[in-house]
Amino acid sequence: MTHPWKSNGDKRTIVFEYKPSGTILKYLNDMRDLINKAIINAYSMAKSNNNELPSPIVLRKSLKNYYDNNIIYAKHHINPACRNAIAILRSYKKNNNGKLKIIKAKRLAMRIDSELIRIDNNKLRITIRPNEYEYIDIVDKNRKYNEYSKYKISEVLLTDNKVCITFIIGSLNKPLINNNIIGFDLNFKTIDYTIIKDNEIVETNTIDTSDIAKTQRDYARKRTKIQGHIKNPEKRNRKLKESRHRQRNIIRDKLQKLTTKIVNDNSDKTFVFEDLTNIKKEGRKNKNNRNNKNNNEDSKASNKNNKSKRFRTDINTWPYRLFQRFIDYKSKNKTLYVNPEGTFSECPVCGEKLKHPIWKISECSNCGVTFNRDRLSSLSISVRGLHLCGTPFTVSGSSSWYSMRNNYLYHPDHVIIENFNDCKKYVHNNA
Ligand SMILES: [Zn+2]
Repeated sequence: MTHPWKSNGDKRTIVFEYKPSGTILKYLNDMRDLINKAIINAYSMAKSNNNELPSPIVLRKSLKNYYDNNIIYAKHHINPACRNAIAILRSYKKNNNGKLKIIKAKRLAMRIDSELIRIDNNKLRITIRPNEYEYIDIVDKNRKYNEYSKYKISEVLLTDNKVCITFIIGSLNKPLINNNIIGFDLNFKTIDYTIIKDNEIVETNTIDTSDIAKTQRDYARKRTKIQGHIKNPEKRNRKLKESRHRQRNIIRDKLQKLTTKIVNDNSDKTFVFEDLTNIKKEGRKNKNNRNNKNNNEDSKASNKNNKSKRFRTDINTWPYRLFQRFIDYKSKNKTLYVNPEGTFSECPVCGEKLKHPIWKISECSNCGVTFNRDRLSSLSISVRGLHLCGTPFTVSGSSSWYSMRNNYLYHPDHVIIENFNDCKKYVHNNA
């Protein structure tokens, strides 16, 4: 099974058993007859067209008269019946070297399009005919049901003893909160953010995520040991696999907790991230270099080559995308993704090119100050988010900038404001 976070717009299905009513059994029988009729039509159409099966839409036209005169169900039910008939013939053709024959559908099973489905108070409502509904209790439901049922239904598969409901995850129409946004800059050991509410910068902060980085590193180290110590290749591979698995579970668990807390603390905001999915090689390299530098700086004294190789492994697996997806999924508001290009090369206050004399510093010759690089990036991302919302914001034009500016200035002790593990706020004495 694919993982729920795999991509936006994925489908998830829950399956449960039920006892069909007389009406539903009759419906399933009638639909099986319809599918069999459709198979016969499709077969004869293929025979007169070089063995080419018609499309479901063409097939539907050939059945329309029959359906209108003989079938007493809502018009929509003809569509999945045609798709089903074509699918059955297509798979037969594929498995039999392009040959076709009339196959009889025996199973009582019918797909129902989303137009005819609704969920009301834990009941699945199926439109049998206009204004005539059948209800199925959703009782023995999947543990993910509450999560998935927030989303749009794609289709339902009904058999004489099972119901499969497929949801389209991620197509939820979430509201865009364009006057209260939180922009995130994701780094190796920290996550920096800036909140802009009603045209004022209200907060910038740094969340310590070194714990996640440490887990990555610890497990990478463990695997290096396994590589060197276990001679039996089968055993070694098994151990390596176990280690990767364990690491993934731990990281996921940490990210789940972190993102839940962040979303709960900011439930009234639109989240803004750099769009990492569309970053071409260049951009990705950039982001990685950034972290690489970050780490090398922390470990100047040790063997550089070894270090950078080790950190490259960590960096490639630092779960930026996973973090974004968890937030996107959990937030009840729309999440925005902004173009990452230049978010840390241009001063968000005046637009001047930034210099970076050391990694953590962004220096603007025009503003004449040195900024905390990551926080300044998060400000940039928030500003871009507001532009995307159609509510442009200029940092220098906002009165809050002057009261907030100190929070963006570079200070050597200017790290770790909040540790998500114990959710304890550290005293923050910058400037
Ligand atoms: Zn500037």
